[in-house]
Amino acid sequence: TAGELGRDMGWEIYAVGGFVRDILLGRPNSDLDLVVEGDAIAYARRMADLLGGRIKAHVKFKTAVVILADGQRVDVATARLEYYEYPAAMPTVELSSIKMDLYRRDFTINALALRINPGRFGQLVDFFGAEQDMKNKVIRVLHSLSFVEDPTRILRAIRFERRFDFQIGGQTLRLIKNALSLDLFSKLSGTRILHELQLIMVEENPLACLNRMQELGILEAIHPLLKLSGERMQVLMELVKVNNWYKLLYQKPEAEPWKLHLLGLTMGIKRDQIGQITSRLRLTAREERDFILLRDQIGEALMKLMSWREDRSRLSRLCAILRPIPLEGVLFLMARSKKEHIRRNISQYLNRLRDITSDVTGDDLKTLGIRPGPAYTTILARVLDAKIDGRATSREDQLRLVER
Ligand code: ATP
Repeated sequence: TAGELGRDMGWEIYAVGGFVRDILLGRPNSDLDLVVEGDAIAYARRMADLLGGRIKAHVKFKTAVVILADGQRVDVATARLEYYEYPAAMPTVELSSIKMDLYRRDFTINALALRINPGRFGQLVDFFGAEQDMKNKVIRVLHSLSFVEDPTRILRAIRFERRFDFQIGGQTLRLIKNALSLDLFSKLSGTRILHELQLIMVEENPLACLNRMQELGILEAIHPLLKLSGERMQVLMELVKVNNWYKLLYQKPEAEPWKLHLLGLTMGIKRDQIGQITSRLRLTAREERDFILLRDQIGEALMKLMSWREDRSRLSRLCAILRPIPLEGVLFLMARSKKEHIRRNISQYLNRLRDITSDVTGDDLKTLGIRPGPAYTTILARVLDAKIDGRATSREDQLRLVER
């Protein structure tokens, strides 16, 4: 239908980008990106009418998103001929607009299009040798100014390289090194770096990407304090294991991957220097405050855990240490602890202890004639501790504790 609609409106329609790449690589990809050699917004509107959905249009960029009734989204863009976006060498007049559209993209494998108009449906449009690069498993930029135009592509190159187990091509690698020696990263906004880092952290193998970044000097280019030392790498590896274990057990809440990794990457950095990194990455004031607090909480908990003895009757103490700490911090503590019994007990905490609630409620306290007030919190906490420690497992035992 998308292609027929294009024919009816007299425009050529292409599926582009990651969608086409993933079809050729035989990988799942749910985002459909279309490019219209015509008016994308008008096209999107007709598509939404036809299929039953709504659109969000960006008039300035001549793009639209069609949101179908089942929630699926289709991005539609207008093939643009804005020659000033391109290096001067391109003779723009000779090019079709789809070629120009593809030429602004990052890598050959992302610069493929698939015609979907009837009669030409399924024809691959490959101007830059993407198919060959896929065969050779190579990540290659389209022209030598690519990283100068947009240094975030360096991070994207690494992300795709590791994801598909490809190699960044020789010339492309030289261009990356050149971009780094020109210090292009320092001109890049923290917001964009953080965004790309976040995309890396949700990859299947973020550590492979971080390793590659370290190898190429990219972490240090982002900030000199961000080095992937052996110790940090080891904790990060544990952290990934711990988080995978946690994800297998639980759905929600999930730890935020960027926070987890940033904890590992900034391990050992002094408190008064951490602000340099958070401001380089343009965390919001709130994110920065929370992150610094989280590190403080972890530091404090590590001290307390050192003197915590494993004992059933002391589990409430463990809970008291861990309860105020956000999930990312608890997972980090588990990864970081060298003592087996501490890891085991933190896993108990995540598995079971943190969900225990007391069987006595505020209403019970009222019935017992205790005046509502701050004392309730203290009493209920005491009862809960007794239950966690196994001193008062039944409701009767817990009520008896209140009466005393
Ligand atoms: P993913 O599987 O990670 O979603 P994707 O290729 O679909 O990968 P998007 O970030 O959604 O990635 O980008 C869609 C397309 O837009 C890419 O395939 C690429 O052609 C183009 N693109 C995205 N970011 C850039 C960039 N920084 N420079 C040039 N082209 C880009």
